[in-house]
This record gives sequence, structure tokens and C-alpha cells, in this order.
Amino acid sequence: MPRVLIIGTGIAGLFAALRLANEGFEVEIITKQRPKDSSTNWAQGGIAAILDKTNLQEIDGHIKDTLDAGDGLCDEDVVRMVVEEAGERILDLLSIGVEFERNKDGAFQLAQEGGHSSRRILHAKDATGREIERALTTAAREHDRITMRPNTLAIDLIQRQHKSPSKGVCGVWALDQETNQVMTIVGDAVILATGGAGQLWEKTTNPSVSTGDGIAMAYRTGASIINMAFVQFHPTALVVDGERPFLITEALRGEGAVLLDQEGYRSWKASGQQDPAPFSFTLQASSLGSMATRDVVARAIDQRCAETGFSHVYLVTQHLDTQHLNERFPMIAERLGKDGLKLGIDPLPVAPAAHYIVGGIEVDDVGSALLAESKQPIPGLFAIGEVACTGMHGANRLASNSLLEAVVFAHRCSAHLIEKG
Ligand SMILES: Cc1cc2nc3c(=O)[nH]c(=O)nc-3n(C[C@H](O)[C@H](O)[C@H](O)COP(=O)(O)OP(=O)(O)OC[C@H]3O[C@@H](n4cnc5c(N)ncnc54)[C@H](O)[C@@H]3O)c2cc1C
Repeated sequence: MPRVLIIGTGIAGLFAALRLANEGFEVEIITKQRPKDSSTNWAQGGIAAILDKTNLQEIDGHIKDTLDAGDGLCDEDVVRMVVEEAGERILDLLSIGVEFERNKDGAFQLAQEGGHSSRRILHAKDATGREIERALTTAAREHDRITMRPNTLAIDLIQRQHKSPSKGVCGVWALDQETNQVMTIVGDAVILATGGAGQLWEKTTNPSVSTGDGIAMAYRTGASIINMAFVQFHPTALVVDGERPFLITEALRGEGAVLLDQEGYRSWKASGQQDPAPFSFTLQASSLGSMATRDVVARAIDQRCAETGFSHVYLVTQHLDTQHLNERFPMIAERLGKDGLKLGIDPLPVAPAAHYIVGGIEVDDVGSALLAESKQPIPGLFAIGEVACTGMHGANRLASNSLLEAVVFAHRCSAHLIEKG
């Protein structure tokens, strides 16, 4: 059976590994720290998905919201394909053992985030990524055709013929960080699933592994890298002196949290009104206020901070049910507690931080990396997940569409390799 080498143990790499191994492929998956060290493990809000693809109104709604968020630059065919495949991929995740939050009647509890016109986000409270990563790594560890190598840093791609990427890629040089030895790992196909590059910015929500290695390796090989100007800044990262920015999920705004600047906060308190929403500076940027898409809200905060000289604005939750907030966002509540902050009681200081690389390695509809010169697929080289640019997100990604795109393209890439045999 063919042997596939996958680099990265986030949702994209692990999902593809399982799919290929289930079809008899030998899969080696390397990762530069522990398997769980990934953006996937840190994802909070959830995964957007319409489960019933015959529900055309909901499908069209998800497509429209994605296109609107992407500022007219999304590839509409890709958006439609991903949105329509979502339900089947959620079933795959469930069968692997992922548990999403359900209501008492057994139906999935759906959340809403900025830019979504309805509740369509499956979640595991505020630690959705941790649940997905748990289920996928457990399944991969138990699979006898998957070899997982932690602490193994991919350095560069090996071309079949030196400086001839059109002849294909057949492996990587990698550093075993336990022995400090560089080794050659070969594969009939190499799948880059190395995630994003948030660590290029001083303030980022990303883990330390997000350093853009996959994009750099592909670039050095001659792959087409596109749309790198499109970097998403998440509007609400916690600002505490001396600490790295901690993401506060947009789902909190979906439950009613509101962004206020210092003046708006004072005015709201003085007014005695229950609802802070009319006092939000974000209304000057969009009638959706705090629930506008991330690009709009992040720009509004950045501008307001420049005008006021403050390093942050406030995310306000005092008008909401404290018990509900603590039950719905337990991980965030615990983390805030370390800084003496409480959901439902304290205004939370927040500012934008680098969050998601919209651009990346240009791929076709099965994740084949394309050559910069000819835009033809590089034989044997694939890119899936955040490292890839599929056209799904246009200029700006809609919240909770990243995990979805990653799992759909991991499936499509694996299906392509399985079909090729
Ligand atoms: C705090 C946070 C919250 C988020 N919340 C959401 C959300 O709610 N919903 C949503 O849809 N998206 C969310 N995102 C975005 C989403 O989590 C990521 O885009 C997605 O998980 C990327 O998955 P991936 O498999 O492509 O990469 P990752 O999960 O980042 O995995 C990349 C893997 O590659 C490995 N790697 C990298 N370079 C090398 C190398 N040179 N050699 C070996 N291994 C390497 C890493 O160690 C890691 O294992 C969030 C992101 C963050 C940071």
C-alpha cells in the first residue's frame, strides 16, 4: 500500500491520517512538539455546519454569510462545496468520538458568532478544539497503520529531482529534536498540515507552533503562495500587562456580550439602562454593532484605541446571567479568574491580536499544491487546513469556518489519494 507522510497533528493532519489509514494506507505523521500542540487544540467557539444539506434555506444562509464576510473575494464554488459537505464531515467527527454539546432533548446546542445570520455552530462549550483534538489523537494513537512522531521538526521538502518541483515531492528532511539528528522521511505523497503563522506578530492568539513553516517550505520548493496580505485579527484578545493575549471567543458576544470604549462604559453605567448595546462604538462601523464580522470589529477597536490612547476597549457582560455564562464558558471563566476577573461582573479589557492566516499555499479542490510558475499541481505535494489557501475565505474568514474547511479538505485530499491508489 502507498505510504503517506503528513506534517502536523491538528484537525487537518489527524483527520486525513485516520481516513487514509482506514483505507489501508501506511501513514507517518510528524509534529514538532507534542501532538496536541496546535491551534486546533486551542479553538474555542466551534465548527459551523448545516447538518441537513436538503435544508436549502440554511445552506444558502451559510453560503451568503461566508461570501459577505469574505468581502467579495471568496471562490463561490469552493464555499458551496464546503458548506454542502459539512453535515457528512460532522458525522465523521462524531463517529471518531467527538462529542458536541447537546440540549436536554438530545439535539445539538447551536451557537452564533459575528457575521452569522443564524445559530449554526456546533461546540463543546468554550473548548471545542480540545475536544476535537482529544478524539482525533486518541483514534490516531490506537490505529496500527499510523505512526506518530512527536518532537520532529520538518525542515524542508525533498524533490524527486533537484530544483525540478514539476517532477514532484517525495519526502522531507526533519530534525529529531530528541536526538538532534537530521533524518530523511519519505512518502509517496506528502501532506502539509502545518497550520498558521500567528507567531510572526508580537500579539497573537496562536500557540508557539504557528510559525508558518509549511508555507516557507512550499515557497522554497516553488509552490504558489497567495493572498498573504489577508491576515485576520481577532477583535477580542484579553489585554493583561506581561501576559500573552488570551482569546475570548466570539460566542460570548453571541450570548449578548457588548464592546464598549471607556466613554461608552461610563455613559452606560450613568444611564442606569440594562442593555449596553446602544452605547457601543462599534455601531459607528456597522449596524450589527458588536456582532459584525471580525475585520469590521477589529478595525473599529484599533481605530478607537488610536483615538483614545488606551491599549484596549471593554467587553461587557454585567447585564447577562452570570450562572449561564460560567456554565457556558467554563474554560474562559477559569482563565479570567487567574487575573482576578469574573464573567458577568467585570468589564474585560480586550484588543485585537493576529489570529488566522487567510492566504497560504494555493491548492486545487483536492488540496494539491500548485506550482507558482504554471499553476499545475506539484506531484505528491498537498496542503490542507490553515496552511492552504482554498479560496473559501476570500479576504476575511467567517467565524468557525476554519475547522470546517480543514476537515472538508482533509477528507477531499484523502479521498483523492485513495482513488488514485
Ligand atoms: C485561540 C484560537 C481559537 C480558535 N477558535 C476557532 C474556532 O472556534 N473555530 C474555528 O473554526 N477556528 C478557530 N480557530 C482557528 C483554527 O483553530 C485553526 O485554523 C485550525 O485549527 C487549524 O488547523 P490545522 O490542522 O490546519 O493546523 P493546527 O491545528 O495549527 O496544527 C498544525 C500542526 O502542524 C505542526 N507543525 C507546524 N510546523 C511544523 C514543522 N515544521 N514540523 C512538524 N510539525 C509542524 C504543529 O505542531 C501542529 O501540530 C482558532 C484558533 C486559535 C488560535
